[in-house]
Order: sequence, then structure tokens, then C-alpha cells
Amino acid sequence: MTNSVTLLGTKGGPAIRPGTPMPTSMLVEMDGQRLLVDAGLGVTRGVCDAGVALTELDAILITHLHSDHYLELGPLLHTAWTAGLKKPLTVWGPDGLAHYWEKFLDSMAFDIELRVRDEGRPDLASLVTIERLAQGCFSFNGLLIETMLNVHPPIEESYALKISGSHHRVVLSGDTAPMEAMVTFAKGADLLVHEAMLTAGIEALCARVGNGDDRLRIHLERSHSAAGEVAKIAAAAGVKRLALNHLIPSDDPDFGPEDWKCEVSAHWNGPWDLGVDNMRIELE
Ligand SMILES: [Zn+2]
Ligand SMILES: [Zn+2]
Repeated sequence: MTNSVTLLGTKGGPAIRPGTPMPTSMLVEMDGQRLLVDAGLGVTRGVCDAGVALTELDAILITHLHSDHYLELGPLLHTAWTAGLKKPLTVWGPDGLAHYWEKFLDSMAFDIELRVRDEGRPDLASLVTIERLAQGCFSFNGLLIETMLNVHPPIEESYALKISGSHHRVVLSGDTAPMEAMVTFAKGADLLVHEAMLTAGIEALCARVGNGDDRLRIHLERSHSAAGEVAKIAAAAGVKRLALNHLIPSDDPDFGPEDWKCEVSAHWNGPWDLGVDNMRIELE
């Protein structure tokens, strides 16, 4: 296994429509470990399409509790279980994630109890441990995982992550407004995967949603990062490669790769990728 990051879902926000990419999740393969970061809608299919069996995931991290980052966590774990999961799996996430998991198990109790009784499956609840993510760092099977609270109001527990192995270091911004501290956090990283928004596409997006009001636009502008700002952060941090994900907008035919390129290339002339679902980025 080579070290890589696969963008399983690259769309910012929870809604999907005909032809849209899927909400956010990423697979980080580093030093033989497979870490899933976030579990938006489509993650179960995404992991399989990346050629990884659900039972091969070593750990899961959830950056924050917006549904586009954990809506499919329960179905993913349940499906890993029916696909043969028998080793314990730890999921790190913010306060509230344990409650989600407990209630998911409750909602599926009929099926789970049936499969234990009728098919001899192990107890799903005891295979999965939910741990609270906190600011700081911890090691996991030889990897160093560092967390930094980012700026994603009104959510307070929202994290950027840095995952370091013996040769590579990747930084994942999570959902955040541009942060000066991200420059230090991402210093010299082999890859920075940063969320990004096309400022020009926001008005059109808000008009299309149809059931929100002006608060949606205000939320986007104070809680997410314009692509040009992301490019400036990448340049200041001197990262080796940049990838944009959690794209807003991601499904508007009036805005395409040229628009993103225009905003990014004004401030960044290093290698970069505009995320698409199932894009695998090898770490050199
Ligand atoms: Zn999001
Ligand atoms: Zn969010």
C-alpha cells in the first residue's frame, strides 16, 4: 500500500441532486494504516470504490457534527459488520457522536439482534468504541494524529487534522473559515486538503436551495473559505501540494474548473487538484 489520500466525496453540504458529487469523506492510507476521515452520505460505496474492504478500515475520525460529515456513519459501521467486521474499531469525534451511535443502534435493534441470533454475528455495539476528539495529539498504530479547533461557527467542536507517518504528513482543514493558525499547522505538509468555496457561486447557490433564507449565505461566508484565501494559506505554509474539497458550489453548470483555477492561480503556483469523487492523490 502506498501512502495516499483518496477524496471519496467532495461536495460541500448535505443535499444531493441528479448528477451531483457526494458529500464529504476521505480515506488516508499511511504506513499501512487506513483511516477514514468523515462519513458523509455515500461513504460506504466510496470506500469500496476506492478498492478498500469495509473490514480493512483501521480507524475513523469525524471532524464535526454537520450531517454532511457523519450522516452515513451508522450505516457504514453496520454494513462493515455485515461484510464480516470482527476486529474492534475506534471512531473519534466530537461530543454528541456517542449519542448518535447509541440511537442508531437502538433504531436498528430488531435487525441487529436478529443477525446475532439467526446468523451468529458478533455483538456490533461491543466492536465499536466512540472516543471524544479533543484538541491536542495522540498516536495511533505508529501514526501521530494532531487536532486543531478550526473556525466553523456556530459549531464549536470542529477540527482540522494533521496525520503524520514515518515519511509523510497530511493536513485536512475540515470545514473552516480561513485561519491564520492553519499556516503554522500545515507548515511544510506533503499535502493540504482544504475546503473551498467559489465566492462568485454563492448567490446563485442560495437562490437555488429554495427553503432557506439569508442566514444560509451569512453562514457560508463566515464559516467557510474562499478558494483564493485557501491558495494564500497553502503558499504561506509552503505545502508541497494542495487539494480542494468540500466544494461549494459543486453542481452548478455555470461554474466549472476554469472558475476555480482563476481564483486559485492568483495566489498559488504549486501543484494542486480540484477534488472529484474517488480522486486518489499519491504522496511522493
Ligand atoms: Zn460540511
Ligand atoms: Zn460543516
